[in-house]
Amino acid sequence: MRTTLIVGNWKMNGSLPGVIELVESIVAGEVKNARFAICPPAVYLMKVGGMLDGSEIALGAQNVCDRESGAYTGEIAASMLKECGCRYAIVGHSERRALYHESDELVARRFAMALNSGITPILCIGETLEERENGDTEEVVSRQLDAVIDSQGIAAIAHSVIAYEPVWAIGTGKVATPEEAQVVHKNLREKLAALDTRVAEQVQILYGGSMNASNAGELLSQPDIDGGLIGGASLKAADFIAIGQSV
Ligand code: PEP
Repeated sequence: MRTTLIVGNWKMNGSLPGVIELVESIVAGEVKNARFAICPPAVYLMKVGGMLDGSEIALGAQNVCDRESGAYTGEIAASMLKECGCRYAIVGHSERRALYHESDELVARRFAMALNSGITPILCIGETLEERENGDTEEVVSRQLDAVIDSQGIAAIAHSVIAYEPVWAIGTGKVATPEEAQVVHKNLREKLAALDTRVAEQVQILYGGSMNASNAGELLSQPDIDGGLIGGASLKAADFIAIGQSV
C-alpha cells in the first residue's frame, strides 16, 4: 500500500519572516491522512529543519550537486543537505532542465548523489506542450526515466519518488485532467513493472502541475497517482493542507 505524499516546492519565493509564518501555519494545520514534505529555498533549510523538529513533516531540498565536494561554486553537496535534516531532494525539475540546461545525464548523477547520501531523490519528468501535441509524451518521460535506470539500475527507483510534471501544466493554471495524468502514471508503472514488479508496486508516482485544493481530490483518487508536487498552492498553508485533506 503506497502512502500519499504531498510535497511543497517553494521555488525562489519568500523571505525569512514569511517562511517562519508559513512553516508555523503548516505545522499547526497538518493532517494525518497524507504525508507532507516542504522544500524551501536552500538558505532557509537549517531554519525550517529546526522548526520541523518533532513534527512528521519532512524537509526537502530543491536540488543537489552531482559532486561530493570541492570547487563547484554555488552548488550544495548532498552531505550538507543531510546535515540540514533533508529527507528528500528534488532533481530534474523542468525549470532546472529548461533554464539551466540540466541534461538527463546530469540529473541522473544528481539522483545518484542524493541516493548514496541517504536522501530520497524526487525525480521530475514531463513533456512540453509541443512534445505532447506531437504525441511524444511517453517517449519523453521514458527517456528521462531511462537515464536514471540505465546508470543506477532499477533497484534505485525503489528508493526514490517519481514526479510526473507536464511542463505545460507547471505554474500555468492548466492542470492535466485526472484521466490524462492517470494514463501517463499507469504507463510509467507498467514500464517499471516490465523490469521489476516489486519496484513498480512500491514506488510513489506524484503528479505536479497546477494542482490545488479544488482539483486535488479527483487527481489523487486515480489509482496510479500517489500524491502531488505542489508549487504555487504550497505557498499558502491553508491551500497546501487542504490538498492533503482531499485524499
Ligand atoms: C512545480 O513547480 O513543481 C509545480 C508543480 O508548480 P505549480 O504547482 O505552481 O504548477
